[in-house]
Amino acid sequence: MRLIFLGPPGVGKGTQAQRLSAKFRIPKVSTGDILREAVQKKTPLGLEAQSFMDSGKLVPDDVVIGIIRERLKESDCKDGFILDGFPRTAPQAQALTAMLGQNQSGIDRVLNFELSDDELIRRLSGRRSCPNCQAVYHVEFNPAKKPDQCDGCGGKLIQRSDDQPETIRRRLEVYQSQTLPLIRFYEDQGVLSRIDGSGNPEVVYRRVTDAVGK
Ligand code: AMP
Repeated sequence: MRLIFLGPPGVGKGTQAQRLSAKFRIPKVSTGDILREAVQKKTPLGLEAQSFMDSGKLVPDDVVIGIIRERLKESDCKDGFILDGFPRTAPQAQALTAMLGQNQSGIDRVLNFELSDDELIRRLSGRRSCPNCQAVYHVEFNPAKKPDQCDGCGGKLIQRSDDQPETIRRRLEVYQSQTLPLIRFYEDQGVLSRIDGSGNPEVVYRRVTDAVGK
């Protein structure tokens, strides 16, 4: 099962990808998570990516395409994967098609999560995440049992540096101009399902499992 989760920042792709990944026992591959870990560890990749991420811009295509090319070669991806936050531009989508074509395999389904801008801003501003295990919470809609502590691993929850009002606006603009056109790209290939991203994570998860037919 090879899946892509598309949609604007804050729509809940990561939360849903995490749940489905546990159910199907296939990895969630998130370029955002990989880049944040690199920033945290101050690796050369992290140092290159940080200024783009902090200002809400996209990291250059060749960098993220290289990350995905290496990640998808790992053995845990051989039975499938959920791409969360990649591809985000037309060149990334074309590179992915070329990569998967080389292995005689394509994408089974692309889930496009949809939500109004007002709701996205509410979700992004209240989002908290665990830097240890990448679990995602919301102060109002999906709070951790103990404030600021991850239910899963006990890590201290943080607010992402790019979840600040000005950067959120920038990220939504970038999504509109660069990522939205991919919906058409995958629609034309006949693999796109639209997912209403409104409601609580449980309700959205039912729509997700319906869409992937499991
Ligand atoms: P995310 O966690 O998916 O919202 O990603 C956080 C940030 O990482 C984005 O705002 C970008 O700066 C960068 N990033 C993540 N995925 C990509 C990608 N596929 N292409 C370019 N930049 C990305």
